[in-house]
Amino acid sequence: MSRSDELLESAKAHLYPNYKPAGIVFARGKGCELFDVEGKRFLDLAAGVAVCAVGHAHPTFTKAVAEQVGRLVHVSNYFYNEENILLAAELAEKSGMARALFCNSGAEANEALLKLTRRHFFAKGEARTRILAFHNAFHGRTMGALSMTGTPKYREGFGGLEGIEHVAYGDLDAVKAKLSPDLAAIIVEPVQGEGGVLPAPQGFLASLRELCDRNGSLLLMDEVQTGVGRLGTWFGYQRSGVVPDAVSLAKGLGGGVPIGAMLTTEALAGALPPGTHGSTFGGNPLACAAARAVLHVLEHEGVLASVGPKGERLGAMLGEVARALPNVCEGERGEGLLRGLVLKPGFVVRDILPKLVEQGVLLTAAGERVLRFSPPLVVSEAELAEGVSAVKRVLGTL
Ligand SMILES: *Cc1c(COP(=O)(O)O)cnc(C)c1O
Repeated sequence: MSRSDELLESAKAHLYPNYKPAGIVFARGKGCELFDVEGKRFLDLAAGVAVCAVGHAHPTFTKAVAEQVGRLVHVSNYFYNEENILLAAELAEKSGMARALFCNSGAEANEALLKLTRRHFFAKGEARTRILAFHNAFHGRTMGALSMTGTPKYREGFGGLEGIEHVAYGDLDAVKAKLSPDLAAIIVEPVQGEGGVLPAPQGFLASLRELCDRNGSLLLMDEVQTGVGRLGTWFGYQRSGVVPDAVSLAKGLGGGVPIGAMLTTEALAGALPPGTHGSTFGGNPLACAAARAVLHVLEHEGVLASVGPKGERLGAMLGEVARALPNVCEGERGEGLLRGLVLKPGFVVRDILPKLVEQGVLLTAAGERVLRFSPPLVVSEAELAEGVSAVKRVLGTL
């Protein structure tokens, strides 16, 4: 029995079966390449779902994390630590927000947004508890974040928080119909990621900002997938000039080391006073050092500046595939290095991914029929071209 088969057998016996992973056991990576335990090479254009922003085993990142492990890993929030303070300042400088609260995942960052919102109006003595989210939005799997997630299938059987409603993404009239003095906040993704790589329509975010201001509600931006350079700017909202009241981050922030964050304006600094919220691991020196290394590589090794042009190039390549295979493809959409090839109704991306794995290319599905590209931001044009040509080959056989 091969090492891989041995491990897969053990996985089937002992891992909790809530996932349905491809039958590959990875052992190591380098840049945009991953190698399984048998040494077989794969081209990673998924980056662990938009997580490994600087690719695998990036020298600067690896050195920073390794040195931090050897120096200090954890102290709790009963004390300050150097990396945590420095990361908060760096995020404030890049985002225009004032404050950072650290946690360990995207769902936790969105839980923080929820608690921030409800506690803010509670403290003001205002009876505002309702939250408006969007159909197909993805905000995470914990109960609060799940309640805001706009896919009923994910919520089925779990119940959820009261006072959370969903309307169609991009539909301003539907949003206006939900405005009332008890609406606390609107939460929105600048580009819906899991929902199908769907960019906000032109002017939508600015209109939400205006409606929130008029109604006295907060505008919450879920940048878990779009933040930290994914769209070619540090944060997605910076592309529309809209300033949110609070932002959630995770995925790309730690380059694969688990960390999430909530960023807020100074006006919300008092909403969660000591004792109201916290996390044992949140903001520990290891995770913060990893995030600082990611920010450093993106800024000082030319990566952030390359995302826009590489994304345009990828979009053009996907557009060519769509035009060459009009019976399979509907078109291409996305921003920066978050792109989707939209297939015709009837095609199911989940069923096509194994064929791409056979070609040695790793991608993910976003929604039912969008093939998502969310490569490491350090990806080269040659690697993007290699992946796109494998996609064209596979889709050509359907
Ligand atoms: C992935 C994702 C989340 C959830 O993040 P986890 O780290 O899996 O909890 C939340 N919001 C968006 C937009 C995401 O893409």
